[in-house]
Amino acid sequence: MTQPTKFLLDESSMPTHWYNVAADLPVPPAPPLHPGTLQPLGPDDLAPLFPMELILQEVSTEREIPIPEPVREVFKLWRPSPLVRAHRLEKALGTPAKIYYKYEGVSPAGSHKPNTAIPQAWYNAQAGVKKLVTETGAGQWGSSLAFAGALFDIDVQVFQVRVSYDQKPYRRALMETYGATCVASPSKLTNCGRAILAEHPDHPGSLGIAISEAVEVAATHDDTKYALGSVLNHVLMHQTIIGQEALLQLEMAGDDPDVIVGCTGGGSNFAGIAFPFLGLQLRGGKKRRIVAVEPLACPSLTRGKFAYDFGDTAHLTPLTKMHTLGSTFTPPGFHAGGLRYHGMAPLVSHLKDLNLIEATAYAQNACFEAGVLFARAEGIVPAPEANHAVKGAIVEALRCKAEGRSQTILFNLCGHGHFDMSSYSAYHAGKLVDQPYDEAELAMALAGLPSVPA
Ligand SMILES: *Cc1c(COP(=O)(O)O)cnc(C)c1O
Repeated sequence: MTQPTKFLLDESSMPTHWYNVAADLPVPPAPPLHPGTLQPLGPDDLAPLFPMELILQEVSTEREIPIPEPVREVFKLWRPSPLVRAHRLEKALGTPAKIYYKYEGVSPAGSHKPNTAIPQAWYNAQAGVKKLVTETGAGQWGSSLAFAGALFDIDVQVFQVRVSYDQKPYRRALMETYGATCVASPSKLTNCGRAILAEHPDHPGSLGIAISEAVEVAATHDDTKYALGSVLNHVLMHQTIIGQEALLQLEMAGDDPDVIVGCTGGGSNFAGIAFPFLGLQLRGGKKRRIVAVEPLACPSLTRGKFAYDFGDTAHLTPLTKMHTLGSTFTPPGFHAGGLRYHGMAPLVSHLKDLNLIEATAYAQNACFEAGVLFARAEGIVPAPEANHAVKGAIVEALRCKAEGRSQTILFNLCGHGHFDMSSYSAYHAGKLVDQPYDEAELAMALAGLPSVPA
């Protein structure tokens, strides 16, 4: 092959700032509201949960926020991450399109999540915090925060959704290897966990419940704060290092993407790759198509309502305006655990509402088929979540083929699937079921959305 495959930056070219899309929005997003008073939230309302530096980032409209030097030093363990031209996938598809992927699976935890876990742990350590609590579904966020806690000497307690605690012992082992404590949620450690177990002793858990438990622990302990791996503005901003590197790497490649694709659970890896490109557009640059891909079984952007809702089941979190399926919605069992959240990042939701991004949804078997095709062409086995982005990129490449057009497609390969091989086994055995969500349950969950005066 005569054309280059891998585009690598050296450490000295690693971005020095995060990009904050709030600086360039044509319309500001709706403010988060206090769950009790329904008044816009002030920074002090969040102080029991987060250190002030992160709260200030959450509400900032500065375009660039410096990445602290000690955080950049840790990032050098795996960043800048590679940008790869998927020559063999292009050939397998017979497409005239050029396909590039940014590979975030090179991080120690195997996904993009350490990009925010490291700064979150660092700001907490600077503020004298001794312990962080969080929730995890599939285990990717829990293991990323566990890794970050080990580096900055912070105890990490993870409420892991009961089903994944039972089904994913290796993710738990990874968290424990980094020194974190793992608790199956719902647990007996919190009021909200005890209330749920009293009614349903065998409750399988959900992200919404695990968030409630973690928030309750943080709110009731002075030396303890909470950390969230997606959804929040500051988390999305921390991930923009991905897109900023990709901008430089595509420049090296002499290319410019026409279409950018990412999978969306809470929206952070998608925002990470897309927002720096979107920012150029919002400041008068080239218009590109930006496509969010979500699971058909948990379709917040494509089927949810854009409305104020709670982030958790016990309704301890602020109300945010987002695309939501309702905080009581339980998606049917499918294997991309990281995409099972009922809501979507307010910033991603706002951009969808402004028609600045597109959204599409695919069933899990179609996504695994795409992931297997990718693995056989490019060698990397994607995380089940990342398979949604692979599927979205392949659909775009086949559209280019049908139209006889050579476009450039960039997607975020946000993690590897080495801890998810049991779901690949299920796929190979023909045992993955494309179970639709329950329309009646969705209608009920949406009917139960909180009413907020306009
Ligand atoms: C957590 C996770 C996701 C979903 O979260 P986003 O905030 O939407 O990125 C997707 N892919 C991987 C590999 C994850 O670990």
